[in-house]
Amino acid sequence: MSSKTGGIRTRIGIGIGFASVILLLGSFLFFHQAGAKEHTKKNNASQVKSSVAGTGTKAVEDEKKEAENTSAAADSTTAVTNGAGNAPTEEPKKTDSVTPDQSNQLQKEFLVVIDPGHQEKANLGTEPVGPGASELKTKVTGGTTGVVTGKPEYKLTLDAALILGGILEKRGVKVIYTRTTNQVNLSNIDRAEVANQQHADLLIRLHADGSDDQNVRGLSVLTPAQNDPYTKGIFEDSLKASQFIVDETKKNTAVTVNGISYRGDLSGFNWSKVPSTLVEMGYMTNPAEDRSLSDPVYLKNLLTNIADGIVDYANYKK
Ligand SMILES: [Zn+2]
Repeated sequence: MSSKTGGIRTRIGIGIGFASVILLLGSFLFFHQAGAKEHTKKNNASQVKSSVAGTGTKAVEDEKKEAENTSAAADSTTAVTNGAGNAPTEEPKKTDSVTPDQSNQLQKEFLVVIDPGHQEKANLGTEPVGPGASELKTKVTGGTTGVVTGKPEYKLTLDAALILGGILEKRGVKVIYTRTTNQVNLSNIDRAEVANQQHADLLIRLHADGSDDQNVRGLSVLTPAQNDPYTKGIFEDSLKASQFIVDETKKNTAVTVNGISYRGDLSGFNWSKVPSTLVEMGYMTNPAEDRSLSDPVYLKNLLTNIADGIVDYANYKK
């Protein structure tokens, strides 16, 4: 990371103009990549949408890198404004390209930040588990791996995030991703900060579980612990969102649902100022569940359940 950091610092040193070029290039690269990705999903309608949100995200990521390494506050603000500004201009296209289900459309704008867990390269550096905490935790761990598929968790979570985002956008939910590629370096604090800076209505973190015992299986929804001093302000709403997601996934008989797990040890929750929930979609160390999570039909149905839970929560908050 240090050589990359140096490169970014140098670029920023050159000036705002060059940063804009990087942003444009980033947007172009994302469109290019999203096109390839969506091909495999046969989901042309959400291609534009993912790209739109992704463009905003790219800007957010760039903004974050800049903020980490310099005090170029002016650049940062521009990047976020540009990113946020892109989505509304594309809104009419969205509704034109998809037949909207009016009964499912939200009246009020509701912003969900989706965080696909992990990334291609773990960052084993440490960061405080909560604001002002002396206890340190790994910035971002490597995640688990599919015991049958060999698929790394970070790939599954990104695939799932883009599918979930597409479903949510069709229902009128505004979506921003913390990452849209695997080649990022975003700690769990960084990810929570994306949601904070965007004043998201909900941060949803997508993960998959792992265990030494291959028999262990099932989906769990993690939610901030009740007596966690860092998450007092978001405990109730987070739990509500977690409960809606559990309730909706329980309707899917193909999915094993283990229920809610209260966690006070997750920096991604403790640094979040907005209601947050984390779905462990299943165990990649369980052969059957690993196969299911790589089955496009199973995954899309599961993510539709999760989207249903999020929309339930959005309606509850109206
Ligand atoms: Zn994970």
